[in-house]
Amino acid sequence: MTKGRIVKALSGFYYVQSEDGKIYACKGRGLFRNKQISPLVGDFVRFDKTNNEEGYIKEIAERKNELVRPPIVNVSKALIVSSITEPKFSAQLLDRFLVIVESKGIKPMIALTKKDLASEAELDLVAQYKAQYERIGYELVYFSLTETEVNERLLDFLKDDVTVIMGQSGVGKSTILNKINPQFNIETGEISQSLGRGRHTTRHVELHQVNGGLVADTPGFSSIDFDHIEADSLGNYFIDIKKQASYCKFRSCQHVKEPKCAVKAALASGDINEERYNHYLLFLQEILSRKPRY
Ligand code: ZN
Repeated sequence: MTKGRIVKALSGFYYVQSEDGKIYACKGRGLFRNKQISPLVGDFVRFDKTNNEEGYIKEIAERKNELVRPPIVNVSKALIVSSITEPKFSAQLLDRFLVIVESKGIKPMIALTKKDLASEAELDLVAQYKAQYERIGYELVYFSLTETEVNERLLDFLKDDVTVIMGQSGVGKSTILNKINPQFNIETGEISQSLGRGRHTTRHVELHQVNGGLVADTPGFSSIDFDHIEADSLGNYFIDIKKQASYCKFRSCQHVKEPKCAVKAALASGDINEERYNHYLLFLQEILSRKPRY
């Protein structure tokens, strides 16, 4: 059997890239239907070649993580795109995306777009946020179409593994995708999705080679609700809160009104940013007030 990874699913075929880079159009052969598992883009598989171009998938390796919209598995990285203006930078939205990627074990990088359209005041504000998130431990880069070269740190980030690009509608996700790989040729309007429970794209998902890594040509996380997150684990997905939480007196501390809470102490001393903490409280409320699932 040959090892490979599914890079595209279309019309009943799974396009598997073998380790030597060749792509085989494979069928799944009933095998997985019994196990109620269907192959997805990003899956590591073993397949039998039937000839130089085709084969049958025999095994699917265990998945590291799974996204639902779009359906991609084993995603290692996410490029979170936030515009400085049009639409204005939103730290709350950025924290939403960060919580979701952290909850899936995905490493983020943040791209700040539309620098050339922003006012001095907007640039100053975003520079402060950039420094703040860098202190927490995140990597942020400015991205502007008017600059001729794609930012090297951004390309370096895409170098290995699978990356999805995510962000609010209109921030320039498709512009970045087209810039890093003109072959994507994505029309700017085509992939714009309304935030939250918007319409879901029915386009197929495909992973493209970019600088040695694979990038999904469909923006990730078209919905950013916290349905899969429990109140007790939310703190783990704020990396600055997580760092302090081990010093809280109670292991089940939710960092709201509990005594001897190390997170509240860090907030008082300025080690945890107040706005970040307020977003934590807001998301915690959202999770606590959601309808129970049966
Ligand atoms: Zn606490």
